[in-house]
Amino acid sequence: MGEEKEETLKFTCIVCPIGCELIVKKVGAKIIDIKGYKCPKGKEYAIQEVTNPQRILMTVVKVKGGSLPTVSVKTAKPIPKAKLLEAVKYLSKLELKPPIKIGDVIVDDIVGTGVPIVATRNVNGE
Ligand code: SF4
Repeated sequence: MGEEKEETLKFTCIVCPIGCELIVKKVGAKIIDIKGYKCPKGKEYAIQEVTNPQRILMTVVKVKGGSLPTVSVKTAKPIPKAKLLEAVKYLSKLELKPPIKIGDVIVDDIVGTGVPIVATRNVNGE
């Protein structure tokens, strides 16, 4: 077996406005050191960002016969970064009917993440 290289990753903690600079050292998939965090939430964020990064998805979905041709939507919570493209592709195939209200659930569980997609604006009929 070949030896796995040590890697150092640097990124900003986005959990609170202080924005600590986090430094994570890992060998292969194993985290060996985390520095720079000022609280336990930052340490948790560093581990998640390195092992399973999550993002809020914001996009639009087509609306047929509405006052606008599309409605803006977002995930109710962050979803794994690795699932973003699949989620965008799924949403690009949908066509909704008005009226749509802010907060309406458009998809209950986007691409098996368990996270709903919700509307972020109102679209009435034509
Ligand atoms: S490590 Fe803690 S204090 Fe620093 S930015 Fe993250 S949440 Fe805020």
